[in-house]
Amino acid sequence: YLTVDGISAGYTKLDVLKNVHLSIEKGEIAALIGPSGSGKSTLLRTLVGLLRPHTGGVEIDGHSIDYGDRDSLRQARDRFAIVFQQYNLFQNMTALRNVTIAPDIVKKRARKDVEALAAELLDKVGLGNKLGAYPDELSGGQQQRVAIARALALKPDILLLDEVTSALDPELVTEVLDTIRLLADEGMTMLIVSHEMAFVREVASRVVFMDQGSVVEAGPASQVFDAPKTDRLRDFTAKIL
Ligand code: ATP
Ligand code: MG
Repeated sequence: YLTVDGISAGYTKLDVLKNVHLSIEKGEIAALIGPSGSGKSTLLRTLVGLLRPHTGGVEIDGHSIDYGDRDSLRQARDRFAIVFQQYNLFQNMTALRNVTIAPDIVKKRARKDVEALAAELLDKVGLGNKLGAYPDELSGGQQQRVAIARALALKPDILLLDEVTSALDPELVTEVLDTIRLLADEGMTMLIVSHEMAFVREVASRVVFMDQGSVVEAGPASQVFDAPKTDRLRDFTAKIL
């Protein structure tokens, strides 16, 4: 469904991703794990078109994305939606408006359709009673769920989540993980970066371990966690588990 084929990418003065290969089936949840600085966020940013790969290709649902081409870039932005650790809501807008603003601009649907969709998505993430609340009236976990609803409003083929629970107080993590579980049950295809290893093991059917810009090992969660093949993965799991 998603195939990343030999992507290399980085920043002006720093090459980060080196020949990254990865594939995800439709409805599958893949988790990206690895040490700080290994390139996990860079990979997600590259997929959504925030960084342009120097080489390699990405194919999604049988369509290849050419990141050098404006139309293809728009396709990439239609197909992926990303949620960051810092949820970046507009402080001067209600939860509902924070969700409608994306599809308003991107898809140009009728306003009342967009509002109905946004209300439905906020209800799905457990915020049906907070449509009119402003971000400073919401907890961190609630704000992060607004950000997830906003990403879902784009109707992505794949939802990318970059450490969406890392900025939250421990007691707020569960409600966000519950939302991700719900999306998983509904068959949403997701690529998640997470430090919640128990959660990764529970929801991810595939785990991809990155180190120094490369995919070092990938496989079923049980294999990656219980039978690592490389020293680098063994060292990593020994530190975090
Ligand atoms: P973490 O677990 O800490 O979030 P990560 O695996 O997401 O780490 P990246 O953020 O992808 O790692 O960073 C990969 C490398 O790219 C690091 O060496 C980092 O310093 C560098 N880097 C990240 N963002 C930028 C940027 N905007 N400009 C230049 N270099 C960057
Ligand atoms: Mg990161």
